[in-house]
Amino acid sequence: MDIIIRNARILTMDQNDTEYDRADILIANGIIEKIGPDVAASVEPGNARIIDGEGKLVMPGLINAHFHSPVNFLKGALVDAPLELYMLYEVPPLQCKTVDSEFAYARTMLGAVELLKQGVTTNHDDCFFVPVPTDEEVNAVMNAYTDAGIRASVTLCQVNVREYEKYPFLYELLPDDIRSEMENVPLLSTEELVGHYETFINRWHGTADNRIRCSISCSAPQRVTPDCLRALDDLSRKYDIPYKMHILETKLQRVLGQVKHGKSFIQYVKDEGVLTDRSVVIHSVWVDDDDIAAMAESGCSVIHNPISNLKIGSGVMPFRRLKEAGINIALGIDEVPVDDGCNLWTVGKTAGLVHKIADPEYRNWPHEDEILDMLTRGGARSMGLQDQVGMLAEGYRADMLLIDLDTLPFTPLHNLKRALVFCENGGSLKMTIVDGRIVVEDGEVLNVDEAALRAQIRGYASRLKTELEQMTVSADRLAPYYREMYLKAVSCDVGMNRWAGPMMP
Ligand SMILES: [Zn+2]
Repeated sequence: MDIIIRNARILTMDQNDTEYDRADILIANGIIEKIGPDVAASVEPGNARIIDGEGKLVMPGLINAHFHSPVNFLKGALVDAPLELYMLYEVPPLQCKTVDSEFAYARTMLGAVELLKQGVTTNHDDCFFVPVPTDEEVNAVMNAYTDAGIRASVTLCQVNVREYEKYPFLYELLPDDIRSEMENVPLLSTEELVGHYETFINRWHGTADNRIRCSISCSAPQRVTPDCLRALDDLSRKYDIPYKMHILETKLQRVLGQVKHGKSFIQYVKDEGVLTDRSVVIHSVWVDDDDIAAMAESGCSVIHNPISNLKIGSGVMPFRRLKEAGINIALGIDEVPVDDGCNLWTVGKTAGLVHKIADPEYRNWPHEDEILDMLTRGGARSMGLQDQVGMLAEGYRADMLLIDLDTLPFTPLHNLKRALVFCENGGSLKMTIVDGRIVVEDGEVLNVDEAALRAQIRGYASRLKTELEQMTVSADRLAPYYREMYLKAVSCDVGMNRWAGPMMP
């Protein structure tokens, strides 16, 4: 036995939603061996670490189902603007910079440390590389996740079409010189991207006792060529790993589908044959009932990123309609600058609040059981890990949190699940365990010298300042054309409104 937790309150989140007022958990070789009242009494502890669970809650680790680590250094740095303008400042399309491995490692590690210290045991990272992935940068990202001790799945979230092809009306709005600059940005061919994926999967998938995994991403269906969209689905089938795609995050994307294909992007990916039970649809804010029916039939998962949707004004996802269709939903931070934090508890709370502005029928509002399900089991299913993590059950990987109930958020304690969703913010966390190993204890992350990491990142201050200034100059030049495109798109009638207020005329 490696770890014995005694006399804890336990929220298992298992199939039967079993809860124990007082029980033990035995952990060996990364696995939950036994769970239940008094199971510790009959075992020889040997060299096991014995943890007193008195006054503590044990629950499954949280699962962040969507994240972009390459912008981990942009906390609080970016403009308040809708996605299409926000992204101009986040990843200026005419400014390509490669990143050295030390920088990429520290950047990834910062996110991993923040997540672990907030009780996130599994992180899915749609990691993009500008302009193209290099072995140096990819390996730095994967080494950081491996060393941090977090469970991670990572994609190469690349685009392979010209910038102006990703948007409606933009080609006509742009002047010739900017168009031709966009044509000079290096792009990967489908064969090259598939080659990068094969190298990536062969090097990393299943490493660190299967704690580190690879998945597939096309970024979004409008951001890759149709043959690339299908080739990536072939890879997802070949390795039986999830296929992530941002779909219908914004109204402009709904308009683009109409302009470009005469249908929504859900119908487009369905018709291309790539909407399957391996698909993971990120956002799905501007979906209609036909889209929801197609998604339900496919068995795909949806990732809900409510803080991201609020920060960049994307609208409110039709939560109850997706849920009633039987679609699995997980929660995501999306990325640091679109949240300005790195805290999945606040994402859960926001998911519990935001739908109230979109529906007066209070019976439709998400309740705490649904939020906790999205934070744990839903996340696991979206990553194809539903038989390994997301609940505390015998035979499952030992990913769990020890939460101190002798803290202000739980004083007085009326309803445990409501307190977890609406009162707690991660501050009561005593311990994070991933794959049977303690990775955070009493506020200290154990695999990383956090003070040295923070000092290293402070050392990047002038570099980051210069880069941000250059990015702003580059984005400012394009912003007037993007604003015109945005206003034209939001004025189109798409037969629905996902904002709580009236749409712009
Ligand atoms: Zn995203």
